[in-house]
Formats: sequence, structure tokens, C-alpha cells
Amino acid sequence: MFFDSDFTIEKYHSGLREKKYSVTEAIGEFFSYAKKENEKNGAFLRFLEDDQIKRAKDLDLRLEEGGITSDLFAVPMGIKDNILISGGIATAASKILENYVSSYDATVIEKLKSNEAIFLGKTNLDEFAMGSSTENSAFQLTRNPKDISRVPGGSSGGSAAAVAANMALGSLGSDTGGSIRQPAGFCGIVGLKPTYGAVSRYGVMSLASSLDQIGPFAKTVKDVATIFKTISGIDKMDSTSAETDYSTVNQFNDVNVKDLVIGIPKEYFVKGMSPEVEKEVNDAIGRMRRDGFKIKEISLPHSKYALSCYYIILPAECSANLARYDGIRYSVPEELKNEDMNLLSTYFRNRGSAIGDEPRRRILLGTFVLSSGYYDAYYAKAQKVRRLILNDFMKAFDKSAEGVDVIVAPVTPSTAFKIGEKTDDPLSMYLSDIFTIPVNLAGLPGLSLPTRKYKEGELPVNFQIIGKHFDEKSILAFGDYYEKIMNK
Ligand code: GLN
Repeated sequence: MFFDSDFTIEKYHSGLREKKYSVTEAIGEFFSYAKKENEKNGAFLRFLEDDQIKRAKDLDLRLEEGGITSDLFAVPMGIKDNILISGGIATAASKILENYVSSYDATVIEKLKSNEAIFLGKTNLDEFAMGSSTENSAFQLTRNPKDISRVPGGSSGGSAAAVAANMALGSLGSDTGGSIRQPAGFCGIVGLKPTYGAVSRYGVMSLASSLDQIGPFAKTVKDVATIFKTISGIDKMDSTSAETDYSTVNQFNDVNVKDLVIGIPKEYFVKGMSPEVEKEVNDAIGRMRRDGFKIKEISLPHSKYALSCYYIILPAECSANLARYDGIRYSVPEELKNEDMNLLSTYFRNRGSAIGDEPRRRILLGTFVLSSGYYDAYYAKAQKVRRLILNDFMKAFDKSAEGVDVIVAPVTPSTAFKIGEKTDDPLSMYLSDIFTIPVNLAGLPGLSLPTRKYKEGELPVNFQIIGKHFDEKSILAFGDYYEKIMNK
């Protein structure tokens, strides 16, 4: 029961209400199942059992006294290991942080705690969230539960695999260029990249601060919406967080879904896309059309520059953000301890040996594009292109121009690729984010969800619904409606 793909938060709560199981029993089962599955798929880097079983017992007392009082009461979740939980290790899957213990809770964790969620453990990722396959983790490989010879996507591959393998009912990831939407797609679950500013970034290890957003994974749009409701909101610890009202974002009755005008960007249906993806996404659009939705072709002409623009802005920001990891502050990797060296050679050695190839590549690129003489040619130019990409979207949403309410597009050009297939070819790895990156550059929300229910053995294909800034409600309501027609 707990471990079926249709076992949702709502069903879990009904079982608790009907006293089919206690919180302690349920959480105990989730831990044993997750630990067993983890041997196959490596979704979790570590479990938080002792701590959380104690919390489960407290929650049983609460349940006795007052029933279920919060949206995520006792919900077992996985947390990406670049998000801080006070007193626990957080590595961002980097050797340089292997012993780092967080001294505070990320705002999203504080919010989940006050909503009484349970943290099963910390999930695997590409080192510092750089990658699209979770193969860049310094510690272990994560396999796609739908086909263990394939990658789960990345960088939040562990969080996606945990939900797809039914080890957790929900999880948190971060999305800087697609790291929630793409792994949700490769694993066939639902993932939301919120509007920039909707969720506080306090306590997520920064990759590119102008692009990063934390967001949820779950089995259904409704569950994703519920987790999003809990973690969103303005925060004095993040000056880029925005004043918003998401109190009803997981209730869809008040949205007239059928009035939404859907835009299909012609630039997102390109040559080189895999035929399965093209077919499934076109079938999804066909379903919407048959259901009576108004569908319009639109153009986002600057999309073709998004990848180049991203690979200037992201390295620039991350070269600055990663400068703090010197192997002295935060923590010292085991094998680098107790050696007698001067300051400079310590820096060289620590950064030279405990930071992996992908972060190193990006630190070098970033330092280069920010250096005097190149700054205007690369960094300043990329910022201008970023604005043009945003303008394309604004024109699509503008009532006096194209006037669409939501945009429907593929998430990735292919389905989950084989482990090892792209590790020697960073450029082809980068290309797998071609459809997700423009959304981050524009700061918009994007929901990734399966085009239909896939059978055992089939590789899933997701599509994304892109919305206006802070209009998560429309994309979630539309996604929830689509789930009801997806098998028609
Ligand atoms: N795959 C993209 C990258 O490597 C996106 C990463 C992310 O969203 N964290 O940068």
C-alpha cells in the first residue's frame, strides 16, 4: 500500500485518520523500504533514522490529541543534500564538504518542520548541483528506478529517484537550469520549479544566486502544490524573496482552467529531438485540443541563445559562490587533515584535490568571463541577452500581444540516457537542458509532469507548463486538470 505509485499524501493522511497505522509504524516501514531500495538505486546519501523516529513518536501523541493539523503532517520526505538541516551533514555531493555539519536550518526546512514533515534522509545530487545526470556526485551513483541502466537526471536525481521508487511521498530539489524539471521527467514524476523569489533560498548552497530556486517533487500535481504552499513565502533572510499569497495555491476549484489560452513555442520543437519525446508531447497537446482548450502557436525567438547565455552567467556567479570552499572553512576533508603546509599551498592543494572536474571547469570559465578585458564581451553581453529572453516570454503573456496564459513545451530533447553515455562529452550533457534553461533565465515558474501514465518498462516523457511570474496557481490547476484527462 505505502509503496504504490498512486499512494499520495491524501491517502496517507486518510489511513492515519482511520487508524490503519500509526505514524511510528508508517515511518518505520518507510525507513526499511527506503533503505532496501537504496541498495538498488542509490537515491539517498544518508538516512536520518534515529532522529526522525523520535519525531514520529511525538507526532503519534499529537495525532491522538488533535488529529492531523498540518498539510504535511508526518509526510516522509527526502531532502537534497545541498539544503541545510541543523546539526546534520550537508555535502552538496562534494568531497570538500564531506564532513561539514550545518549550523542552522534552511528556511524551507524550518517551514517543513513546523508543518510536521518527516525527513527520511539527504538525497544525492551532482556536485554543487552542477550536472544533468547525478553522475557528478563525489560519493555515489544514483540509478533511474524506471530502468537502472539509466541516469535519473540531475542535478536533483536523488530526490526524483526517491519519489519515483516510492521511497518517499515527496522531496525537495533545487532548479538553477532544470534540475527539478529534468529529473522529474526522466523518472516520470511531478516537479515544480517556482518563480524566482517565491521560495526563500536561505540555507540552500548557492550555485548561481540569480537563478537558483528550491522546489518540490511528488507523485501528483496536488501533492506538489501542497509542498509548495508550505515552503513558499517572503523571508527576511533572503532579500530576493517576495511578498506573495500562496495560501490557496493547492486548491484548484476557483481557477477556470478551461479559459486558459495555451501557447506552444515553435522553437521548442526542433530537429534532433528524439521521436518518442516529440510524439508524446504532441499527443499531450492533441489531448488538450480534443478537450476543447484554445491553443496558439507562439514564438520565443531568442531561445536559441539561452544555453550560451546560461553558460556565461552561471559560471560567473558560481565562480564567486564557490570561492568560499577552501577546505579550511566549513570542513576539512579526511585525507587532507594534519599536514603541515603554508596558507597558499593549502588552498591550492585543497581546492585542487577536493573539488571535482565539473565545478572546476565552471570556476575557470566563470573567472575568465568576469576578468577585465572579457567582462563586457561575455558577462555584460550575456546579461543583455538574458533580458531579450525574458522579453520574449513577456510578449507571449501580454494581452495586447500574443496573450497566452500558460506555455506548454517539452522538458528535455530525449528520454533518460544510459549511465556513462554523456560523461565524456560535457557539451552534449549541457544540451539536455536546452528547454529548461530559458525559464530560469526569465525567472518564471515551470511545472514538469508526465504526458500520460506509463507502464512498467516504458521510459516516461514529461512536458512542462510554464506560467507567468508568481502565477503558480494557474499552472498547477491546469496540471491537476490534465492529470484527469491524460489517459484519454
Ligand atoms: N544541468 C544544469 C547545469 O548543469 C542545471 C543544474 C541545476 O539546475 N542545478 O547547470
